[in-house]
Amino acid sequence: MLTIDNINVYYGAIHALKGISVSVAEGEIVTLIGANGAGKSTTLRTVSGLLKPKTGQITFEGQDIAAMAAQSIVKLGISQVPEGRRIFANMSVLENLELGAYIRSDKSEIKKDMDTVFERFPRLAERKSQLAGTLSGGEQQMLAMGRALMSRPRLLLLDEPSMGLAPLLVKEIFKIIKEINESGTTILLVEQNANMALSIAHKAYVLETGRITLAGTAQELSESEAVRKAYLGG
Ligand code: ATP
Repeated sequence: MLTIDNINVYYGAIHALKGISVSVAEGEIVTLIGANGAGKSTTLRTVSGLLKPKTGQITFEGQDIAAMAAQSIVKLGISQVPEGRRIFANMSVLENLELGAYIRSDKSEIKKDMDTVFERFPRLAERKSQLAGTLSGGEQQMLAMGRALMSRPRLLLLDEPSMGLAPLLVKEIFKIIKEINESGTTILLVEQNANMALSIAHKAYVLETGRITLAGTAQELSESEAVRKAYLGG
């Protein structure tokens, strides 16, 4: 479904991604794990079109998207939940969700998807008119995920969904990610919580300073000595 082939990405003079290749098949959860600054978020931002690779290719369902505008990429069916959520604090929960559907015009289908989001996230249903900025961290993460789902993506990019959340809530969020995947959405997940990420993923890649150092099934990586030592606490 998605193929990232040997991309090089720079921030000015900083060479952030040094020949990264990742492939995601339809129906999978693929996770990128690695320490701070390894290039995980940069990889997601490049797929969603916010950054352009200097060299290399990104294809989504056979179409080259590396040079495409971010909005066109959303229209193809890729939606990103950014790190830190970036919800609109001064708008209500409902308004945030409506904004997630801005590229669509199929009103009755939008309404259906809104109902599905409220079923998946009952906490949001109870808070439809609450200002998003007053939600708790976990609720804001749910809202950011709900908003991304409102574009009806086929590929969902999730950047550190567990960030800043208490352990119980992390469990809840990961359970929901698994359910979203089981209902047909392919997922590329960036996480520092390697334990949780490997527990739900099919495939995984380890990033270190802009390079992929290990790749395999999630099970292979969770059994790997190097991964256990560096990312799973021994
Ligand atoms: P984290 O988990 O801390 O977000 P990450 O693996 O997602 O880490 P990136 O955010 O992708 O890492 O950063 C990769 C490298 O690119 C880092 O060295 C970072 O300092 C650099 N970088 C990221 N954003 C910028 C920017 N806007 N300008 C300059 N350098 C940047």
